[in-house]
Formats: sequence, structure tokens, C-alpha cells
Amino acid sequence: MSTQDRYPVARPCLSDLEERYLLDAYRSGWISSQGPYLQRFEEQFAVKCGAAAAVATGNGTVALHLVLAAAGVGPGDEVIVPALTYIATANAVTYCGARPVFVDVSPNTWCIDVEQVAASVGPRTRAVVAVDLYGHPADYPALRALCERHGLLLVADAAESFGAFLNGRPTGDLGDATTFSFFGNKVITAGEGGCVTTSDLALADRMRLLRNQGMDPRRRYFFPVVGFNYRLTNLAAALLCAQLERADEIISRREVVISAYERELSNPPLIHRQPVLPGVRRAPWMASFLVGPAGTKGLRDDLARTLDLLGVETRPFFVPIPDLPPYADVNNDYPVTADLSRRGINLPTYAELSDVDLKVVVDRVRAALSKVTDRR
Ligand SMILES: *Cc1c(COP(=O)(O)O)cnc(C)c1O
Repeated sequence: MSTQDRYPVARPCLSDLEERYLLDAYRSGWISSQGPYLQRFEEQFAVKCGAAAAVATGNGTVALHLVLAAAGVGPGDEVIVPALTYIATANAVTYCGARPVFVDVSPNTWCIDVEQVAASVGPRTRAVVAVDLYGHPADYPALRALCERHGLLLVADAAESFGAFLNGRPTGDLGDATTFSFFGNKVITAGEGGCVTTSDLALADRMRLLRNQGMDPRRRYFFPVVGFNYRLTNLAAALLCAQLERADEIISRREVVISAYERELSNPPLIHRQPVLPGVRRAPWMASFLVGPAGTKGLRDDLARTLDLLGVETRPFFVPIPDLPPYADVNNDYPVTADLSRRGINLPTYAELSDVDLKVVVDRVRAALSKVTDRR
């Protein structure tokens, strides 16, 4: 593969296997939300994640809503979520008529700060949704102990951490239920898609019921409850079966990409790599760095603009959710979230980035870094 003028921040890794399965599903006529690939994907995904059951969904956002709805989260309830995450985490709570309560993240993991979760538990708290930000699992042992003590549901939003391990246990087996996304920029993808894993079989049954419009599994077209159409198609499941077979290969190449960046670019205090706690094997979702020392403003944006002109697409870290209009919070005080959000940048991360391309991108990042520091 030759070098390119522009490098996107993400790109799916699709092979002949995906094409073969997709075509097979297409030719079979099972293009809708029933079919052999769906069943196969759910079985194999559950095994891969160390969970008893997997419930595939149309995307990762509805996977989150499905778990909360199946667990009975509703109006008057509060759900604790990190202030630094993708909007879907908070929106899923809102869809239930419940209120998201935001908590700052820890500088050691970039994930929800467990001590602040403990301080935020109140009489209306029903659940905690932890997010494995940029592939690093949250502190599930501590969260699990806390949630058990207070009788709270612990949901892991693992949209960004498929393939991660914590103390030898895979993502998918770390909370009461775990949600995944298979959007086009995720570690494995079907363009759109999602899944929930759990070892609570009653919860899995409830999710299957609600996913399929609430239809009684023993009585067709009888709807005992209000459900949703959150189904995945057999076509998407065919892609996911292929992606799952190739997951280890995709993950190890992405790990090579991220470690190359970390080796070549680590240059504190100008640029810092993502912290990784002992016992953690992070999922290689996106190479994530912090630009400048704590408290730096503007340098990340300057770097991103400079890289864009050099043909390297980047992504800034998420905007703090309490800074967004639907969740505007007058008592907004999430200092770690605010700082990471201003300094964080994601670099192009995909399996098909060749060694030569990687070197080109690294050189451009180095050049951009010296430009932006010269300007200061
Ligand atoms: C990608 C993502 C989701 C779900 O996204 P969909 O696009 O609906 O599949 C949820 N939470 C986080 C943290 C994500 O990164």
C-alpha cells in the first residue's frame, strides 16, 4: 500500500470473508431481522465476551436504552453517568424519562471516578452506567462493590472497549450488563449495529421481548407490553460474524498502530499518552493523547488545524455532556473532564494503516507539534 495525501481518523477493516458472508445472507433471502447469521453472531459474541447471553440490536445507543428499559428504569429515577462520554450514554437515560446525574472522571483512567459515584448515590439512584472511555475499562471491581452495597444496576458502556480485559476478564463480563456499538468507526463494525451481553438470563429475556416490539414469544402478534423495534438485520449480523472471526487479527494490528504512536510521539509535557492501569489490557479503539501540560488551552485545537492542513484527520475528545444544551448544568464543576476535553486528541487508528503510512503520519504529527510550539 502506498502513502496517501489524506489519512482519515478511522476506517473499517473489511476482507473477502465479510463479502462472502454478506453475499451468502443476501442470496439466502434472509435480509431482514431473522436468519442464521443473527443466531450465530449472538452465540459467538456471548462466548467471546464471557457472558451467558448476547442480545443484538440496531445500534449501540438503543442497546443502552434497551438495558435500562428492561431493568425498569423510569421517570423519577436517577442514573449516574460520567460527564466525559459520547452523548448516547446520557440520551439513553433521558429516553427512559429518568435523569442522568453527571460525575467527573478520574485522571488515572479517564473513566468515571468511583469515589464521586459513591458521593452521588441518593434515594432515587437506580443505576450506574460506566463508560470504557477510549478503550480503557472503568474500575469495575470497585463499581461492582458499590452497586451491590446500594442495590444498583451496573451497566458497562463498552462501545469503545470491545477486546479489552480487566484482570483477565473480557469486556462484556464486567458489569451486570454490557453494551457494544458496531458503528463504522468502532473496533469491529457492521456500519451500524449494537449488542448487549449479560449473564442475567431474565434480563436477557426481557430485552429480547422489548427489542421485538414487545411481542409475546409464545403468541405471535400479541403485545403484552410497549416495546421497540431495536432489531439488527441478518445482513449486518453476517458482516459481524466475519468481523468476529477476524477480531483478534484486527485488534493486534490496531495495537501495533497505537504502540507505534506511543513509542514515536511520547514527549511529555508536550504530548502525553493514555494512562493504562495495571491489570488492564485496553481495547485499541483510537490512539488517544493529551496535548500540553494540565490546564493548557488552545494548543490541541491548533495542533488539529495544523494536522488537517498536512492531511491528517484527527478528532478532539468529547465535549463534556454538561456543557451541551440539553444537559446544561449551572453547577457544572467537572475539572478533570473539562481539562481532558480541551487537551485530548485522537489520531488515525485503523488496521489497514501500513507501516509506511504510519511513519508518514508520525512524521506529520512531529512536524505539526514543532510548528504549534514555535508559534507559542
Ligand atoms: C459509539 C458509542 C455509543 C453508541 O453509538 P451508536 O452510534 O449508537 O452505535 C455509545 N457510547 C459510546 C461511549 C460510544 O462511543
